[in-house]
Order: sequence, then structure tokens, then C-alpha cells
Amino acid sequence: MARDSRPEGQYTDKLRVPEALTFDDVLLRPKESRVEPDEADVSTRVSTNVELNVPVLSAAMDTVTEGELAVEMARQGGLGVLHRNMDLDEVVSEVEYVKRADELIIRDVVTASPDQTVREVDAMMENAGVSGAPVVDEDDEVLGIISGTDIRPYLEVGDADEVREAMTDEVITATEGVTAREALELMYEHKIERVPIVDDEDRLTGLVTMQKILQRREYGNAARDDDGSLLCGVAVGPFETDRAVAVDDAGADVLFIDCAHAHNLNVIDGARDIKESVEADVVVGNIGTAEAAEDIVGFADGLKVGIGPGSICTTRVVSGSGMPQITAVAQVADVAADHDVPVIADGGIRYSGDAIKAIAAGADAVMLGSYFAGTDEAPGRVITIEGKKYKQYRGMGSVGAMQSGDGDRYLKDEPDEEDEYVPEGVEAAKPYKGSLEGELHQLVGGMQSGMGYVGAETIPEFKERSEFVRVSSAGQQESHAHDVMITDEAPNYSPGE
Ligand code: 5GP
Repeated sequence: MARDSRPEGQYTDKLRVPEALTFDDVLLRPKESRVEPDEADVSTRVSTNVELNVPVLSAAMDTVTEGELAVEMARQGGLGVLHRNMDLDEVVSEVEYVKRADELIIRDVVTASPDQTVREVDAMMENAGVSGAPVVDEDDEVLGIISGTDIRPYLEVGDADEVREAMTDEVITATEGVTAREALELMYEHKIERVPIVDDEDRLTGLVTMQKILQRREYGNAARDDDGSLLCGVAVGPFETDRAVAVDDAGADVLFIDCAHAHNLNVIDGARDIKESVEADVVVGNIGTAEAAEDIVGFADGLKVGIGPGSICTTRVVSGSGMPQITAVAQVADVAADHDVPVIADGGIRYSGDAIKAIAAGADAVMLGSYFAGTDEAPGRVITIEGKKYKQYRGMGSVGAMQSGDGDRYLKDEPDEEDEYVPEGVEAAKPYKGSLEGELHQLVGGMQSGMGYVGAETIPEFKERSEFVRVSSAGQQESHAHDVMITDEAPNYSPGE
């Protein structure tokens, strides 16, 4: 019998493979539209109980999301997900930092005591960076309030005088539950800039300041919880129940079970335990197939998709396993839609067009690492290489990142001293980009343009109405700037960095 006419068999059958597509394989089919891009509403759900005004998350990576970037993400309407390479105390304090950044009532109030000298209080306020302080006795009862204006004349003529002399003792206070509007009315009526918050025995529990209220106003689109604090996401390992409980207690809104292969059954057991132990929503990932989604969707508040699409990720070449991202998202989204559970597309997004394609494939929100790694708010400093500015960006499965944390995300034990890690990521750098706000503006603006081309006003409508066309490699070339020499950098396009 001739070789190529052999009967079919177990292995030759394997070669009849399904096709899997990624971002560059498809484009959104333009449709009749009355939607102006600026008017497209990009609000979405990231997990069963948490909504965002902007459908974007920053990756849980140690060169991307710590407190500072998480605060800015939430102020701009998205969600930052704190990474796992921090010890427990550090991550708890980063969660508290995010939750407190824009709170109306300041809790760690700088206070003065009545028998301090004016000089001491002046130095204390300067150190703490505040311009006024409630004066309290040893039981925290509010006796007065002292500000820079009260202090100034004393510094000239009597800086050894006691605070009780210099303070204003008719204090206007409010109680818990005061709204920003009510506090502003008090400030307006009494020409003051600070309102101490007291309990029913006049003991200090917090402080509202004019500066905080105005700062909050600047971020009208911010993603906030019911108390007005910024939303905060945190990545935890599938077997880290204690850590999950600690960050939940600290106020995290969404926990992300962070694993490169969440369809591992031990990971699913761990994720289920965590879900039963916390109040926050629990998003489980990463997965890339319908079967994985079926096994997780019953208990998870969200599904995160991405097996190997990340820019710094080498999982597919190291392990030979992975799933092109558009197909992965679509497979998971088919299952998730039946259960009304949100889907997050994580990794591989280089341009705003990729982000909106991920949503067309069924995602409710997108997670990006490399896109934000070059911003001011990302951890790490700017480095200069041959006159160009960069920031470090590394995979969480790179040798460097695993040495700073552990290989748990990749289900690897720490190697003995003489062995080496088997990494699934690389250490790299991204061009320095300036503020996160600017980057996010380009990303969201591009996504809104996509909604305009499809004629959809909202994300759910866009998910339903959008259609793909398949693109050949000639079509891909045509899509990029071609046959020209780019003379001025565009803020949202660079042909591969
Ligand atoms: P990017 O936006 O840079 O394309 O992808 C970021 C995503 O890549 C992260 O959110 C995470 O899911 C994934 N990731 C981060 N580090 C690694 C790594 O070292 N290896 C792999 N396989 N994926 C990574």
C-alpha cells in the first residue's frame, strides 16, 4: 500500500485541527451607524457585582500595577490589579492606599494636643504636609482646630505658647454619613476649610477637607465603591487563602486568582475555597477554552482569558501550548454569556483596535500590561538607552520576577540552588510614555471609534452587533502604515517597538 493512502488513524486524525484566530487575523466589519465615537458609552461590568466606567484593567505585574498606578486607573474609570510579588503587609498597605486615596472622610488624621507648643505643632504639620489639625484631648474628644492662619502671628511673637491659646475653639463638626455636598455647605456657611467628623460623644473619627472634595471633583468618571472610595483589584495565588482574606478585609473589591493555567483542577479547588472565604468578587483565570469556562463559570464572578498572548510571554514557545486570543475569548464568552458572567481578555493587546476586537469577540473588559508599563505611574524608574527613554517591563514568569516572588503562577516549585528556573516570560523594556491618563485616553478613544464604525452606543450593544471579517496577510500589511516613511510619531501608533 502506498504511504499516503494509509487508512486514517489516531494520530493523523489529530492533524485535522480546528482553526484558532488572533487579533491580526480579523477586522471589524464597518456597519451603518449614527453613533458619534465621542458619544459611545464604554461602561461595563468587570465581575458580577463590580462596574467600571472604562472597560480597561492594568495587569497584575510587578512592573505595571502597584498602588500609584491603581489609583490613577480607578480615577480614570478603570481598574488596577495589584501584583503578587509583594509580601502580605505590603499588599495590604497598597490596598489601603488605593481605598483611601480619594475617600471623602480622611481617617489617619493628623491631630494636635492642647498643651503642645505652637512651634511644635507648626513643625508637625509641616512634616505631615497638612495645613491644619483638629485639637483633641487624650480621649480624642475634639477641643478645637488649629490652622496655619491661626499659627502665623504666634510664630512671630509667641511660638512657645500652647496650642490651646492659638486654636479656634468653636469647631464646626459633622457626623459619619455626611455627604460631600453637606460638608461643602458647612464650609461655605462658616468660611472654613476643614470639618472634623465626630461620634455622638464628640470624639474624632475623621476629617473632611475642602482640598479633598475638590480633588474628587476632578475625577467625575472615577470607578468608585458605594462609599465613594476608588475601586481596587488584587491578584492572589490559587492556594493563598490567607492572603485573599487579608486583602478582602483591607477592602479589595475584586480578587483575581492569578494562574497561567486555571484549568488545572487543583487550581479550581483552590479558587473555589477562596471564593467561599471572601466577600469581594472573585475572577478566575487564565483560561482559553470552552471546557475550562464550563468548569469554572459555576462559582466565579468573572473569567479571565489568555494562554500565552502576552507581549513578554513565552509560554507558547516554551510549552508548545496556547490559544490564539480572539478564538480563546470567543470560546469562553459563549459559555460565560449563558451564565451572565463577565469575561476579561488578558494579554496581547498592542493597539486600541486590538482592545475593541477583544470586546467584539465577547469580552466585557480588557487587561493590558505592556501598554501601561512605560507610564509615569508604573513602578520603576526611567532608564535611558542610546538617548531614548524606557521603563523596565518583565513577565511575571521571567527569571527576575520569579526570583522576586515565586513561580506559583506557573505552578512551579522554587528550584533548588543548583537548578535554574524554567521561565515562561522575558525581561524587557518599554518606551517611556508619560502619564497614564494620556495613554488611557488614546486607548479608550480608539475603542470608541471602533464602536462608531460598527454603530453601537454601548458595550453590550457592540458585543451583539459587531461582526468580523477575516484578513489575509496582504490585508494585514494594508492595515498598517505602508509605503511611507513616518516623519512624526502618532500618540497611538508605532509599527512594532
Ligand atoms: P501584554 O499586555 O503585555 O501583552 O500582556 C500582559 C499579560 O501577560 C498579563 O496580564 C498576564 O496575564 C500575562 N503575563 C505576564 N507575565 C507573563 C509571563 O511571564 N508569562 C506568561 N505566559 N504570561 C505573562
